[in-house]
Amino acid sequence: MSFTSVLEAAGLDPSDLNGGDLSITTPIDGSEVARLTKHTVDDVGEMIARAEAAFDMWRRVPAPRRGELVRLISDELRSRKDSLGALVSLECGKILQEGLGEVQEMIDICDFAVGLSRQLYGLTIASERPGHTMRETWHPLGVCGIITAFNFPVAPWCWNAALALVCGDPVIWKPSEKVPLCALATQRIVERAVERFGEAPDDLSQVVIGRADLGRVLTDSPGVAIISATGSTGMGRSVGQAVAARFGRCILELGGNNAMVVSPSADLEMAVRAIVFAAVGTAGQRCTTLRRLIVHDDVYDDLIPRLRSIYAGLPIGDPLTDGVLVGPLIDEQAHDRMHEALSRAKVDGGVVFGGERAHLDEYPGGYYEHPAMVEMPTQTDIVRQETFAPILYVMRYRELGQAITMQNDVPQGLSSCIFSNDVRETEQFLSMVGSDCGIANVNIGPSGAEIGGAFGGEKDTGGGRESGSDAWKGYMRRQTNTVNYSRELPLAQGITFEV
Ligand code: NAD
Repeated sequence: MSFTSVLEAAGLDPSDLNGGDLSITTPIDGSEVARLTKHTVDDVGEMIARAEAAFDMWRRVPAPRRGELVRLISDELRSRKDSLGALVSLECGKILQEGLGEVQEMIDICDFAVGLSRQLYGLTIASERPGHTMRETWHPLGVCGIITAFNFPVAPWCWNAALALVCGDPVIWKPSEKVPLCALATQRIVERAVERFGEAPDDLSQVVIGRADLGRVLTDSPGVAIISATGSTGMGRSVGQAVAARFGRCILELGGNNAMVVSPSADLEMAVRAIVFAAVGTAGQRCTTLRRLIVHDDVYDDLIPRLRSIYAGLPIGDPLTDGVLVGPLIDEQAHDRMHEALSRAKVDGGVVFGGERAHLDEYPGGYYEHPAMVEMPTQTDIVRQETFAPILYVMRYRELGQAITMQNDVPQGLSSCIFSNDVRETEQFLSMVGSDCGIANVNIGPSGAEIGGAFGGEKDTGGGRESGSDAWKGYMRRQTNTVNYSRELPLAQGITFEV
């Protein structure tokens, strides 16, 4: 598959993608596939103004009609799943199966949002006053700015946009400067759906091409009511402060440092499969990648050799090739960070298995790595950091309480899991004294979440929730209504105030 054919199949004309100053390369071999023209700060200001005008109209459209637009988006996504999935693979380097999976997630959340468009329920509340009713209603909140990371170039946009659109909010997307072609191809898909829908306001969905400075225009603007930002903890700290300074609404989806506890009763066959998928999938570049393996002494010497033999034979290579399971890292900087982390782990007493660069002769400009497994004596500082690469730190434990303490003793709080067939252990892991993460699983790995649940995590992961459950409430404003249908004016709390 040539790069040009992937771009064309995804609805992009390669001749339109030249001449700008933002160079887009593919991690497959490091070659340049496009040069895009960046927007300016003024452009983004104008986009925000246009989105505010779109809001004025879109909020008046009944929610089930708004759902119809999202249904059309999912329809268009279905017919372009293969081409968009391949573009995801080309631009961010994940294997084709994962690229397709990402587009499937977009379709799933659209379907969820269509149903949701008839279920934006409020409450009725018992009033303490005679002849009064109370209720809670949900209204559109305003323009939603969506800032996304390189490693999931399309799905997180859709987790936000599908909900925001049914909730009555226009969207402005600032994709990662490393993967904007996926955003442009998605925008074409949305434009086709908007055309079929026929009655959407102009500029309901817009894309900003550029770097962090343009993301900051969104975070600083009072015209952007909601900022949903996916990326590193450093980015989230800056975005969170900027949005809080103007009392905007923020949804933060930041870094993770996810662990699995393997207990003595675990089904090791299942655990091995889950560990390998979660630790090396997307070349360790998922926010939910398994980074820490906390193994009971009784099964350690059985589990680790099995993992080593699988690690030794992992198919690493061009992510668009059938059978490859590990694609490249995004760029040289990611490679450097991986090797710095491995060096630090060695200084801390870690024993490294794997971690060498692969395919250097074939792809001098592509950063392919053998995933690394590092046996650590304890959970040192380097283990407590998120290194966005395929490094799995392995540590031992004796008592479950000790394993849970280790699981929680990191700054991040995204995803976690336990492999155990002992209900006392699994329930403790899921309890208030168990995992402190936003996601805690039993007998499955920490990655690959379904869209039906709320997605996100605590502590340095930012505290935001997206996708399923009641995450939609993050895109609406809540209003409490008290209606007096009596002929009296009783005050709450029995207060008397005679005039
Ligand atoms: P990054 O933080 O470098 O960039 C993410 C996005 O933020 C980019 O679009 C960037 O231009 C923008 N940005 C950066 N600084 C900004 C600022 N001050 N104001 C506004 N916008 C700004 O992240 P990355 O390297 O692209 O992605 C990897 C990171 O993302 C990892 O830490 C990973 O765990 C995290 N991530 C988290 C989730 C999640 O749902 N929790 C999902 C995917 C990735």
